[in-house]
Amino acid sequence: MTAKLDWSQIDTVLLDMDGTLLDLHFDWHFWMEYLPQAYAERNGLSQEEAERIIHEKIQQQQGTLNWYCLDYWSEALQLPVSELKREVKHLIQTHPDVINFLAKLKQLGKTVVMVTNAHRDSLAIKLEMTEIGDYFDHLISAHDFGLPKEDIRIWSEIQTVQPYDPKHTLLIDDNLHALRTAQQYGIQHLLCAVHVSPKLDKIDPQEFDHFETYNEIIPL
Ligand SMILES: [Mg+2]
Repeated sequence: MTAKLDWSQIDTVLLDMDGTLLDLHFDWHFWMEYLPQAYAERNGLSQEEAERIIHEKIQQQQGTLNWYCLDYWSEALQLPVSELKREVKHLIQTHPDVINFLAKLKQLGKTVVMVTNAHRDSLAIKLEMTEIGDYFDHLISAHDFGLPKEDIRIWSEIQTVQPYDPKHTLLIDDNLHALRTAQQYGIQHLLCAVHVSPKLDKIDPQEFDHFETYNEIIPL
């Protein structure tokens, strides 16, 4: 079902970052191509072999905070992951109309909170390369709590930073596991961002309301 939002019922908007506000191509390219290339060079491996090793390691950590943790990967791969990210930071881009959408939320007096599984260093690079940071009341990295959004406890931890009424809160995310834990916690309005990048397949939103472009959901 395509999204139909009653904005009068929504006071707080929780927003994911990667894939939701930002084109996921940057992250995809970094983890699937650029990092394996650096690993291949460092260890005298072929690109193919390095990709196989890294993709296997990444899969083993899926759904955990390590998956997003630059310190973990720097240690596990013996590579300066944050520095390498900076080398391709020019690829970081917001989706079309994201800034209009965020500006409109501010104009309507909504409380806007970023809740990302991204590591603080990843967040910092993305705030540096885009204008999105100006529009948030709080920027929360799941690493601050030591829990990913896949863990239901994070939704009550967020209350300690920014109290919110789950009945009047909207979460927009491209991560179905995050949407499900939020739903179990009682967050009433849930929306799946399916168009994570023009270069990647759309997400299958399964049971969730969804949208492709911000034009579809921007409050009038
Ligand atoms: Mg995401």
